[in-house]
Amino acid sequence: MDLLTLFSANLLLLLIFAISFQSMSLRVTPNAHWRSWAAANALLAIALICFAFERVLPTFVAYVLPNTLLLLGFGFHLYAARVLARLPNKLSDVFAPAASYVLVGVLAYVLSDPMLAYVGGNVIFTLLCVATIVAYTSKNFHGLISVIGLVLAFFFLAAVGGLRIFHGLAGDEFAGPGMINDMMQDLHLMSAMLFVSLTGAFSTALSFEQVAQRHKEAAMRDPLTGAYNRREFQARLEDMLHASSKKTFGLLNFDLDHFKQVNDQFGHLAGDQALVKVVAATKAQLRKDDCFARLGGEEFAVLLPDISRENAAKVADRLRQRISEIQFDFAPANFRITASAGIYHGDGTELVMEDLLQAVDESLYRSKNNGRNCVTFAPSLKPVAV
Ligand code: GH3
Ligand code: MG
Ligand code: MG
Repeated sequence: MDLLTLFSANLLLLLIFAISFQSMSLRVTPNAHWRSWAAANALLAIALICFAFERVLPTFVAYVLPNTLLLLGFGFHLYAARVLARLPNKLSDVFAPAASYVLVGVLAYVLSDPMLAYVGGNVIFTLLCVATIVAYTSKNFHGLISVIGLVLAFFFLAAVGGLRIFHGLAGDEFAGPGMINDMMQDLHLMSAMLFVSLTGAFSTALSFEQVAQRHKEAAMRDPLTGAYNRREFQARLEDMLHASSKKTFGLLNFDLDHFKQVNDQFGHLAGDQALVKVVAATKAQLRKDDCFARLGGEEFAVLLPDISRENAAKVADRLRQRISEIQFDFAPANFRITASAGIYHGDGTELVMEDLLQAVDESLYRSKNNGRNCVTFAPSLKPVAV
């Protein structure tokens, strides 16, 4: 492909993606992420035009402008990645790499040293690519497949940047401060085209994947407390009952005692606060693989996978104890909320979920009838002492 075709193709791709990112910013959150991509593409398009006309630009402008625009564009790439990763971000950081290049560019102009401009620009460029890779490998993107495409695209560019640094240091003849005037220019433009297409497609896919993941997570959770909801709980219980390798598990149901009085005495908002606090205190006692859910109202359930009967009983009683120790901002220091629980332990063989839930529910009501603030094992098992 001749140079003009390559320049035009790059320019067209950059502009098409800039427009599509800008329109996405009107609808899809986080809007700053899309606006940064649009800004990055627009700046890279202008930088590209400057590179194309580098030889007709006044020398000082040729030293400073194209690389500054390029690095500003990549500053926005880094910003977008950090916005999407929900990492701390300042807009002023976007300008720092470009500003450092301005100093390098001015110095290179004063010294009439195009190699300094070329190598300095590429060092900053490579570092920006590495910083962007670091952002895309942060834990907020774990489990999202499209991020692999973005990491590869920036890795590819960082490698190209590294090669250019060596190329520049090797002291090949320079026609000007920007692109090296040799056949490598073709390769650079082709790699730029590959980068723009890859990142355009994968950034869109990543953002939508993240939105889908957020919706999926929200559909599993109770909005007030953040605990899993009944649907997710039952799905996990079903999975456990149908697992091919059976392991013993615990199923605990608990219901707060006389909770209606909390609302009557302190108001519904206080009741909500109490529910949030009970959930936080309970979660803090559980393992990572335990599934804790709000089944509805002031009734909760905990699935304790792969646990012995003794330990399941201990966990149940520890939760009961912990709930009865919580202090609430809205109530006097001696005010306490207690919970009554029912518990099953076994491997679930031959059990249908509905029967199991009913058995645990009946045990819970036995706890209520036995004076509340206690745990009762499902039939055939002994109650745990209060
Ligand atoms: P028991 O010991 O027999 O369980 O008595 P209880 O008062 O807890 O039982 P009951 O089922 O009569 O009342 C449950 C109360 O929980 C009634 C309802 O107002 C309250 N409740 C349920 N969901 C919420 C909620 O999301 N927020 C608040 N503030 N209260 C809730
Ligand atoms: Mg209750
Ligand atoms: Mg209830």
